[in-house]
Amino acid sequence: MILEKGNVSVSTENIFPIIRKWLYSDRDIFLRELVSNAADANSKLRRLRDLGEINLPEDEQLWIRVAYDSESGTLTVEDNGIGMTIDEIRRYINQIAFSGVMDFVEKYKDKGAETDGIIGHFGLGFYSAFMVADQVRIDTRSWQSDAQPASWQSQDGMAYEMGTSERVDRGTLITVTLSEEGKEFLNGEKVREILEKYCGFMPYPIYFNDVVADRERAERARKASKKEVAETADPDAPEALDATADASVDLTKQPINDVEPLWLKKPSECTDEEYKDFFRKTFRDFREPLFWIHLNMDYPFNLKGILYFPRTDNIYESLEGRIKIYYNQVFVADNIKEIIPEFLFLLKGCIDCPDLPLNVSRSFLQNDAYVGKLSGHIIRKVADKLSALFNNQREDYEKYWQDIGVFVKYGMMRDEKFYDRVKDIALYKTVENDYKVLSDLGDTLLYTPDAGQQIAYVQMARARGLDVLVMDHELDNHYMSFIEYKNSGKRFKRVDAEIGGSEGDADKTEKLTGLFRTKLNDDKLELKVQSLGEDALPAMIVESEESRRMQEMRKQFERMQGSDDEAMDMDSLFPLRQTLVLNQDQPLVSRLLALSDIPGKDEQIELLVRQIYDLARLGHGSLSSDDMASFLKRSAALLDKLAD
Ligand code: ADP
Repeated sequence: MILEKGNVSVSTENIFPIIRKWLYSDRDIFLRELVSNAADANSKLRRLRDLGEINLPEDEQLWIRVAYDSESGTLTVEDNGIGMTIDEIRRYINQIAFSGVMDFVEKYKDKGAETDGIIGHFGLGFYSAFMVADQVRIDTRSWQSDAQPASWQSQDGMAYEMGTSERVDRGTLITVTLSEEGKEFLNGEKVREILEKYCGFMPYPIYFNDVVADRERAERARKASKKEVAETADPDAPEALDATADASVDLTKQPINDVEPLWLKKPSECTDEEYKDFFRKTFRDFREPLFWIHLNMDYPFNLKGILYFPRTDNIYESLEGRIKIYYNQVFVADNIKEIIPEFLFLLKGCIDCPDLPLNVSRSFLQNDAYVGKLSGHIIRKVADKLSALFNNQREDYEKYWQDIGVFVKYGMMRDEKFYDRVKDIALYKTVENDYKVLSDLGDTLLYTPDAGQQIAYVQMARARGLDVLVMDHELDNHYMSFIEYKNSGKRFKRVDAEIGGSEGDADKTEKLTGLFRTKLNDDKLELKVQSLGEDALPAMIVESEESRRMQEMRKQFERMQGSDDEAMDMDSLFPLRQTLVLNQDQPLVSRLLALSDIPGKDEQIELLVRQIYDLARLGHGSLSSDDMASFLKRSAALLDKLAD
């Protein structure tokens, strides 16, 4: 029976199409909104019970049911919460809710692109159901004992009909009759996926029923077990058959959510196993997290959550780590950088913050003092955890460094406060797998990006008693520049930029320079003679740190610009400064000098010069492929002579 007809408001005709368009990219949230309303209705009822307003048995379960029926094309959301009287529908649905929409439009109508992505996070409440619906109907019965069940329905969210309802039980049933578009967008799997994503930690059990699929499954199970029983069982016991069939198809009894997410528990009451389990389930990451931080505070923020330090294989993979933001156990979004500093996205975790002003725009969040303090607090907690590990579990901390190093370095570069807190506990790994802090190291910091390739240089440095740091991550070049910038006096040098030794004899230098330049046909070859000890190699390439860095910057610039025409000019502008260093203590070098005094040895000398030069470049990793080919041929010929 229809009791009343009306129109929500004037001036609405143009609004819905706009909202519809906005919402198009994030249609899933309508379900979150309906389920959130159901959860709120349950919470309100619980509060009434706590206030003694209503007599509710202690053990009465408050729940939410979601059912998707592909045959009838409907989606229903039901709760056994507070319900609404017809008067409340008038107040909350016709007026308040709609004014919410109006507020929303007011707030965002001029913002255009800036609103992209906001709607998905902050929602439009009940009305967002019209994004996927041909009709939305409410059947509800208030908790008040004298209340009559009531209904409301609308095709477009503007014109509505209110009336009586057949509903017997307390609570609300929302029936969404899906539009063609809605049907295209949704199926049972999709509904389940949305529920798991947004409602996975809501505080009331959510039972999901994919009506058609569940019926078919039940049917199949029944047939299968019938067949099995017919083949194996005692024909005199037909009762047992139905019992097994029922048990095997009872799939709807398991809620899709976890009503008590681990972050709500007291940290002292959580076991390691629970933390790991929660991580596995929430992030579907089956590698164990390294360690975690349980945030649990009421003051000055209401903030709960768990941040995990995951194992990382490389920076790209780990960037996909997620910080999920929740608002009273309702998922809002991943990685909101206005709330969580971006570098923390290398971690994985859940943050629940019921005080967040989420109904405002992102640019507001950015400038909000409260949000600023919140993110400062999270940064401090992360730094505190790292410090505690460094001070109390140094061995573990060093073990973790391989995985967390990138995060810490990246964080130091991105966030000044974080830098200040962790700068003294940032580790530097040496080629011997020792871990040092900056203050353990001298002003010149020798490093290698590849200890295998640069082994000759690494050995030289180690022979001189110097530490060689391993800097093999793509982040490290930036990191080293950053550390130099922060610590004037500290200077990183790649091991091939600094090999030590003392100045060689001037006459030998002159003679060898002439010899190498002529035999190699290169009158610009830079050559130096040094005393490096007789166990060292006869020759090595030394490359200036500055020129190499310039080259690297240039290359990076070119990659960004995509230019290559100018490469020639650039090469002469930024020449790579390589010097061939000959070791005058090494017997081969002495013999080469002696040989050069004997006439008629030209061919032999040239062979030696080329071979020495190529060996130096080989050890340096800068032998071009053409030169590599001739080196290999020449080496084979030399061996051939040796076999004579
Ligand atoms: P919001 O949830 O932001 O207040 P909505 O448009 O989603 O806005 O809902 C408007 C109001 O309608 C709610 O505040 C609530 O009072 C009422 N309402 C919506 N859904 C339910 C429900 N399932 N049970 C009881 N009341 C509800």
